[in-house]
Amino acid sequence: MAPPSHDVLIIGAGLSGLGVASFLKDKRPDIRFLVLEKEDRPGGAIASHSEEGFLAEAGPHGFLDNCLESRVLVGLAGLTREVEKAPLEKFVRYVCLDGRLNLVPQQPLKIIRAPLISWPAKLRILADLWKKPLAGEPSVAEWVRYRFGPALLPFADAVFTGTYAGDIERLKIDAVMAGVRDLERQHGSVIRGLWQRRREKKAEGKKEKGGLPAMTSFASGMARLPQGLAARLQVNREIMYNTEVRELVRDEEGWRVLTRRNEFRGSHLVLALPVNAALALLAGVGELPPPPMARIAEARIATVALGFSEQAGIPFGFGYLAPESEGRFALGALFSSHMFPGRAPMGYQLIEALVGGRRHPERLEMEDEELIGRVYEDLRQLMELPEPPGYARVLRPAGGIPQLEEGYPALLAWRDALVAESGNLHICGFGWKGIGINDMAKEAWTVARRILSQRLEEEENQVKGIYF
Ligand SMILES: Cc1cc2nc3c(=O)[nH]c(=O)nc-3n(C[C@H](O)[C@H](O)[C@H](O)COP(=O)(O)OP(=O)(O)OC[C@H]3O[C@@H](n4cnc5c(N)ncnc54)[C@H](O)[C@@H]3O)c2cc1C
Repeated sequence: MAPPSHDVLIIGAGLSGLGVASFLKDKRPDIRFLVLEKEDRPGGAIASHSEEGFLAEAGPHGFLDNCLESRVLVGLAGLTREVEKAPLEKFVRYVCLDGRLNLVPQQPLKIIRAPLISWPAKLRILADLWKKPLAGEPSVAEWVRYRFGPALLPFADAVFTGTYAGDIERLKIDAVMAGVRDLERQHGSVIRGLWQRRREKKAEGKKEKGGLPAMTSFASGMARLPQGLAARLQVNREIMYNTEVRELVRDEEGWRVLTRRNEFRGSHLVLALPVNAALALLAGVGELPPPPMARIAEARIATVALGFSEQAGIPFGFGYLAPESEGRFALGALFSSHMFPGRAPMGYQLIEALVGGRRHPERLEMEDEELIGRVYEDLRQLMELPEPPGYARVLRPAGGIPQLEEGYPALLAWRDALVAESGNLHICGFGWKGIGINDMAKEAWTVARRILSQRLEEEENQVKGIYF
């Protein structure tokens, strides 16, 4: 019997794969697509954990509401009314400096004005105006040190600990802040570039967008988003669970996708997978140019969710981050029930501390009890926690956060060339172009748009053929 044939095969039912499927279904309901997922649930890295009235996250805690593609996905999932928002303006952040939590303004300019760094260090930042663009592929730390001076390193460290759980001595500035690097190259200075941009916007009559975005999640946690998207797909017709793809074969008609028991055919193939999972599958496809590296580094973290009584003096806000120079146990913590009050039962508060990351994978070897004890000790030094937590749970996600380090720009260029050359292969997903939910949503839309435009071209060609 001939294997089932589809217009589009999508591998992976994380946010990326579900995003591509949802955009396609919305724009062209006649397109026959199938999502293949190895697990028995959708969502991949997105995993909410609900227990004893507490709601914690093993993966993402939320995303900012300043991305159109994400907002569209929320709408397509039918979840607009279930959205919960914590505006950054209200939910302040803290950085741990000299063993204390310091409130940090949300905008770079305000950080510079605040009394967090000395006057000579503030003046050193202005050296950016005459420093030449830094050549090569510098790390975030090298670049910040060179352009703005060492005083800003703890802040840069906190930012990239909070997003990548990464090491700023290894993350590449071109990979993680490509836009800022462009400003440096085009204007010879980041400050001048920002200033110029502002002037251009003013001259065009465009108003500066007022206000800061809001952290967004759902009343029942982040897992609601992939669940909502997946619920709109027909099981076994548009999405198949417990179906691990083991091999890919390219032929004249498109792609053959092999699982343990079945084979599927597709004109287009979308790999919506974390970088390493995609590289592993692509390694088995003959005649592809080899990637510049076989895999990239990942940073694994554990969430230690702790429930405290209302007596605990958790400062109001979003949470805090601790730069490596502080030598603390936890990378930081989210004050989850401040942002989203339904995360803890009546009379309790929920903190979710993050442990491990690129620099401390050895901490993830600890038993749950030890992790909980170490995190509690760490937090006690930073805030008023008179009693041990009444609730504690360690959540350990299986996968890590892809790290955009040495060789990543070459890997991304390899992907782009491969996709451009092949026409019917599409690669998006965790770590390819960014790591956040909003990056995934944008890339999913790029892939869907590419498939839709090619389908239109194919159809036009077919019509011409008939009349010929
Ligand atoms: C601990 C952690 C915290 C995070 N925090 C945030 C945050 O606060 N904010 C934010 O914006 N982002 C955050 N992220 C990132 C966010 O989770 C990702 O951007 C997003 O979930 C990635 O989605 P994806 O679909 O590309 O990949 P994944 O979620 O990894 O999905 C890939 C899917 O493919 C499946 N799969 C893999 N191999 C195969 C195969 N061979 N055959 C079939 N199926 C396969 C997997 O089972 C999985 O379901 C965090 C990530 C982690 C790990």
